[in-house]
Amino acid sequence: MDNISFIINQLAEEREQYFNAVAPPIIQTSNFTFKDFKSLRETFEDEFSGEYIYTKSRNPTVDILRKKIAALQGSEDALVTNSGSSAIFCSILANVKAGDHIISVAKPYSWAARMFEVVLPRFNITHTYVDGRDIQNFVNACQENTTLIYLESPNSWDFQLQDLQAVADFAKPRNITTIIDNSYCSPIYQKPHKFGIDLCLHSATKYIAGHSDTVAGVITGSRERIKKIFDSELSNSGTSISPFNAWLLIRGLRTLEIRLQRISETTVKVVDFLKNHPKIERVIFPFDKDFPQYELAQKQMTGACGLLTIIPKELDYQEIELFSLSLKNFLLAVSWGGHESLIMPKAAGMKPEIYDKTNPEHRMIRLYIGLEDADFLIEDLRNALELI
Ligand SMILES: *Cc1c(COP(=O)(O)O)cnc(C)c1O
Repeated sequence: MDNISFIINQLAEEREQYFNAVAPPIIQTSNFTFKDFKSLRETFEDEFSGEYIYTKSRNPTVDILRKKIAALQGSEDALVTNSGSSAIFCSILANVKAGDHIISVAKPYSWAARMFEVVLPRFNITHTYVDGRDIQNFVNACQENTTLIYLESPNSWDFQLQDLQAVADFAKPRNITTIIDNSYCSPIYQKPHKFGIDLCLHSATKYIAGHSDTVAGVITGSRERIKKIFDSELSNSGTSISPFNAWLLIRGLRTLEIRLQRISETTVKVVDFLKNHPKIERVIFPFDKDFPQYELAQKQMTGACGLLTIIPKELDYQEIELFSLSLKNFLLAVSWGGHESLIMPKAAGMKPEIYDKTNPEHRMIRLYIGLEDADFLIEDLRNALELI
């Protein structure tokens, strides 16, 4: 069933099993008791489909969330992990072996990059980064030992897209597994499985949790692929989520759709304001008509949300710092997807000596639009821009 209201409010809630409580219980237990040897033995053989045995593998509160996430993302099954990074780690590791080659979109999320550059080379697994905007780059990078294509669409900072249908069509007949980090769009605004992408993951810390109070990740895909990750990488790394954090994510899901609607509406207004501001050279936002891949964005995404990047006209390092700190209602902080608006200038990660004001990339400032009122945020931006 593909109805968001049903999934968020009803799916997998078995209220008669817990005193007709509207909110599900947090089953805060490490282990579960058995009534006979037979069911214990069968569960030892298959923890994925057997009875509950140990919360590191499965837990009833977490299972409610798994069913909702799978349905929202349009997949057979889902896993929930204790961070987006562990979702990345488990889903990649489950699909490579020594000697394999990975094609990844250039500049993937930092901990995915670290896996390709630092962890996997220890096992003789190589990678090629490609400009994901052109399918031909994937074709050219493909080797005989390529077994995995890793995508992030939209990508961080510049929000470059990959054509998901084209990548899946290329990978499928070659038995290459495709994975996408779908965090930017949330499970609501992009359905990669529909285009044939095998595994889809999110930092649930962002939109799914939605309140800047939980770190979590999710992975969706076919039951077979999910079981494979469950049986080995997830159970072996022990990176499943705690029942309490799963419960917070279920609570976050209740308002996911309405939060995204609000954020989308506000973001469009903020983008409009910034595009027309004389001190701003460029605004990068996938649903803006001037975005270079606007048509592809319209084709494969049903919404764009709170993340956008601005490139101010030439600014000194100190002016970028002044602008960032002059904003009263945008917090200088990492992450995004919560209730609060945020600012993250690229320059903040650079030493002032390195900063080159003629380089537009150095001037990039990422904004995250939260749940505040549009005028409240625009006024704040207007005032801070006046100071530089
Ligand atoms: C935050 C983020 C991650 C990592 O998720 P954590 O929950 O912080 O581990 C992965 N991908 C993207 C695009 C992110 O923004």
